[in-house]
Amino acid sequence: MAKSSKGCAIGIDLGTTYSCVGVWEEKHSTVAIIYNDQGKQTTPSFVAFTEDERLIGDAAKNQAATNPQNTVFDAKRLIGRKFSDLKVQKDKILWPFNVIAGMKDKPMISVKYKGQEKNLCAEEISSMVLTKMREIAEAYLESPVKNAVITVPAYFNDSQRKATIDAGVIAGLNVLKIINEPTAAAIAYGLDKRTNCVGERNIFVFDLGGGTFDVSLLTIKDKVFEVKATGGNTHLGGEDFDNRLVNYFVKEFKKKENLNIIGNPKALRRLRTACEEAKRALSFAVMTNVVVDALFQGVDFSSSITRAKFEEINMDLFDKCMSIVERCLTDAKMDKSSVDDVVLVGGSSRIPKVQQLLQNFFKRKELCQSINPDEAVAYGAAVQAALLSRGIKNVPKLVLIDVAPLSLGWCILHGVMSVVIPRNTSIPVKKTKKYTTVEDNQSVVPIKVYEGERTRASDNHFLGSFVLSGLPPAARGHLYDVCFDVDQNGILTVSAIDKSTGSKNELTITNDKGRLSTEEIKRLIQEAEAYSVSDRNFLRKAEVMNELDECVYKMRNLLKKKDASLKLSSEENKKIRSRKFT
Ligand code: ADP
Ligand code: MG
Repeated sequence: MAKSSKGCAIGIDLGTTYSCVGVWEEKHSTVAIIYNDQGKQTTPSFVAFTEDERLIGDAAKNQAATNPQNTVFDAKRLIGRKFSDLKVQKDKILWPFNVIAGMKDKPMISVKYKGQEKNLCAEEISSMVLTKMREIAEAYLESPVKNAVITVPAYFNDSQRKATIDAGVIAGLNVLKIINEPTAAAIAYGLDKRTNCVGERNIFVFDLGGGTFDVSLLTIKDKVFEVKATGGNTHLGGEDFDNRLVNYFVKEFKKKENLNIIGNPKALRRLRTACEEAKRALSFAVMTNVVVDALFQGVDFSSSITRAKFEEINMDLFDKCMSIVERCLTDAKMDKSSVDDVVLVGGSSRIPKVQQLLQNFFKRKELCQSINPDEAVAYGAAVQAALLSRGIKNVPKLVLIDVAPLSLGWCILHGVMSVVIPRNTSIPVKKTKKYTTVEDNQSVVPIKVYEGERTRASDNHFLGSFVLSGLPPAARGHLYDVCFDVDQNGILTVSAIDKSTGSKNELTITNDKGRLSTEEIKRLIQEAEAYSVSDRNFLRKAEVMNELDECVYKMRNLLKKKDASLKLSSEENKKIRSRKFT
């Protein structure tokens, strides 16, 4: 059944490890989570390059062990970051693929594709995953899809959000909006609950995924969702638990066999896959085996681990999650007893110890697991996408109020951070503050913009700078205005104006931090098209080869049959043999 593409918009949960896509179905007044060609509702955020093709999703992950250097994952951990970022440097050690410094300190993933070296940025890899999600939706809808809402962790900063929009643009999508993952999950939960939701409810969303951890406190009143506070860590999730297991078993293997697999990407990848499986199993069983045949130099690895040991080696990470939960409540100035529901989202929220710590913290409150933790985010994104497209019927009229995840301000006298928009302020927001010059006859004011919570500006995250010039000669104390404007996607524009002269200057934080320029995006869109053409050609070639194989097979069969028909029956044989030649 073909559906109309007009006004059709999808919601994409672009996860660090898995992605998911959904679409609003008018007919059933609900979201359909779209299954991929493997029949799964989530698709690995993996892209692989080989001698003759590019693979995305399950196909990429499935061949990771045999082609580890050219199988890229975790692009979300790199997006919007600098190469010199300590976190990038730390991750680099564990990734089997190579990351190098590009222009403007941008991290570039270096792979071999069709025998040639290719350097790709995180936006490109993410755009490939987004393209895959778009294709999954197109196959289901049987029509092209252009519009999408994409989710990001609430804690993503300005450059990470922008880089995500860039990835969408490279994937040929019109990004209607970027929304926070916990907000999206709350929409899914709120819709589920709306029939029996009386008055105001405080909802705590706990999203522990593969690579990121997000918490949010929201209130739902009637149909208004308001984020009161957010917190999290862009660098905490299931993969960190996997890493702990990998390190644990690397040591064990070294002790047992005197062999060190660090530095061998293939062995590490295979051990990591086994560790992830063991971790999942430990959510249901108290003990599990870890077996990898011919792990390294032909030596097998076989061991076991208990749930208690798994908890012990990860306890500090679980504790870290809980302190983030506490901080979020403090930020919202809310006592934990006022929380009505605790919603679990993300694959790692299935870990029993995590659930136990949460339950203890919230005084044995029942944890809400009525929504599928893997689908909730895409579900909410799809509702939001439908709301933002014209002409879609039966969409519940929700109003979303999001917040700025980090304080925004600029560097004033003595390097102090002057906060203009405090963290957790509802967005969109526009705030103007008055400042005065600090010297006599000061004609320029350099404005360096930062985000973060530290009092010393330089301890925060630098976003960009500009200069307000043309101030009139005057004694110190001359007034001027600085305005911070955050749009609905959480993207910031800062302006400064001297009202006495009308001098004005402004800066949209397009940043000095390695964001792609318009030209670069254009070039990458062209490249993405080239990749698709190459993929299509490869597919066509494969199809032709297949057809050829089939043809040969049929011919062979036909010939066999003919052979058979040419063969003489046993009677004919006898006749011939018995015939006498004279
Ligand atoms: P993200 O959105 O960050 O990509 P997901 O929410 O899809 O992540 O969660 C993926 C993570 O959840 C992976 O690290 C995976 O190993 C982990 N996970 C999935 N199922 C389980 C389980 N039963 N027990 C523990 N961890 C799990
Ligand atoms: Mg997620």
